[in-house]
Amino acid sequence: MTAQLTPDTASGVAQTFDLTHPATGAHVGTFPVHTADDVAAAVGRAREAQSWWGGLSFAERKRRMIRWTAYLAKRSDEICELGNQETGKPKGDVLFELMASLEDIKWAATNAERVLKQRKVNPGAAMINFEARLEYLPLGVAGVIAPWNFPLYTPFCGMAYALAAGNAAVVKPSEFSSATGVYAVESFAAANPDAPAGLVGWGTGFGETGAALCRSGVDKLAFTGSVPTGRRVMAACAETLTPVLLELGGKDATIVAEDADLDAAAGAIVWGGYWHAGQACVGIERVYVVESDRAEFLRRVKERASNVTVGLDELSDYGPMTMPGQIDVVRRHVSDALDRGATALVGGLDSIKPPYIHPIVLVDVPEDSPAVREETFGPVVVINTVPDVDEGVRRANATDFGLASSVFSASRGPQIAARLRAGGTTINSVMTFVGIPSLPFGGAGDSGFGRFHGDDGLREFSRPKATTRKKFGMGKEMQEFPRTKQQYQIVRRVLRLKFARPRR
Ligand code: NAD
Repeated sequence: MTAQLTPDTASGVAQTFDLTHPATGAHVGTFPVHTADDVAAAVGRAREAQSWWGGLSFAERKRRMIRWTAYLAKRSDEICELGNQETGKPKGDVLFELMASLEDIKWAATNAERVLKQRKVNPGAAMINFEARLEYLPLGVAGVIAPWNFPLYTPFCGMAYALAAGNAAVVKPSEFSSATGVYAVESFAAANPDAPAGLVGWGTGFGETGAALCRSGVDKLAFTGSVPTGRRVMAACAETLTPVLLELGGKDATIVAEDADLDAAAGAIVWGGYWHAGQACVGIERVYVVESDRAEFLRRVKERASNVTVGLDELSDYGPMTMPGQIDVVRRHVSDALDRGATALVGGLDSIKPPYIHPIVLVDVPEDSPAVREETFGPVVVINTVPDVDEGVRRANATDFGLASSVFSASRGPQIAARLRAGGTTINSVMTFVGIPSLPFGGAGDSGFGRFHGDDGLREFSRPKATTRKKFGMGKEMQEFPRTKQQYQIVRRVLRLKFARPRR
């Protein structure tokens, strides 16, 4: 099947679901609800195809992955249209997402050989007569479960790093973004007709289809989504000891220090808080500003946030909430914060006009309230004032999450960044590390573990293989019985020489 703009992939399937535009209700596509048997069949096809893909050289795999990027780049208008219809996000945002996805595919394809190829390593003095080699081999089939908020970027990331490392993949896109998810998967075969069918497969549906993928015997499960689902995924994968990579939620904080450029900070925080209606795992949800900056910083944030445009116009800053249920979460967080004495600097409960939520800035929110502790995943920024940066760092770290963070300071950015417990930190801007494929991306604590991107992202989808080869004999072998007293004396002497008087 070739990639198409409005996939209707569900003919002849027992159960289906419809995808609609979150604001207009327009029909986007109809998809099958795949059963455990369907998922098992997709994994079986992928496993068969992997023996071909895994047998190619790094250069041959790279050629096909670069062909894939060219195929997608030529269809960027079509993809932006589809992403916009499905999630309501502006086409410009889909274009950025596509750009980041292509960067990742290209980076993974280009760097796989350098990171994973076989190399000699030092065998050490005790094994001097052996040659030691290390290589990273494909795992087999990777299962990729994706959320709806970055419907292109998350499945592409999983596929890119899995494929570059020589694996096949089966993708389960979100039930809210299956049109772009299926398009993303099918684009690989469309760009590479010589690849065996099913090398990259897909299964659509709800949680049960995802759970079936966890239990299908895939060799790794890369999950991106919420913390509660992440826990379920890990429990299901534990049944078959399937290793997991978990990219989960966040409650990202920004520190605004005394010497921050307040205009730059306000601009970046308003963008980082409201981009895609705040439906970004690395969106800015909390800001800790030092007392001396407070008044001026709030003035600038208010001015900028008040000018943010919301709607379906081509140049609107952001669109509707994609998932209706999230609107209730936002309402609960805002209402609770206001009840507990917080102030609405911009917007308030009136800003919630489903399917849209206009920008909300809450000030002086109690630290133990849901708006500070839980992921809001909507266009709400909490700004609390701290006496100094130390207190800002303490509060930023006082969360179960640890996905990303940022700091604004002219002179102390790197020192403050080093103290923030997060997978990635941006100094004097926000979220920029996400767009640099050579940097690993992932979280700490409840934000998950394992990494997409970078050398770590490639190794995530590989198994290290150690090989040793005897180069020459050394008389009486250590790897043979019986051992002699003389052998023990030699070992004792080497041990003392190496370890008894440690050199610095
Ligand atoms: P979600 O957890 O509701 O769903 C994610 C995916 O899991 C969907 O495809 C869903 O069908 C599937 N699923 C549901 N139940 C399952 C089960 N029992 N077993 C297996 N799969 C199951 O998340 P969402 O609402 O789609 O996405 C939003 C969340 O994702 C937010 O918390 C956000 O922070 C997070 N996210 C994290 C990153 C990251 O890189 N850390 C990136 C994007 C989104």
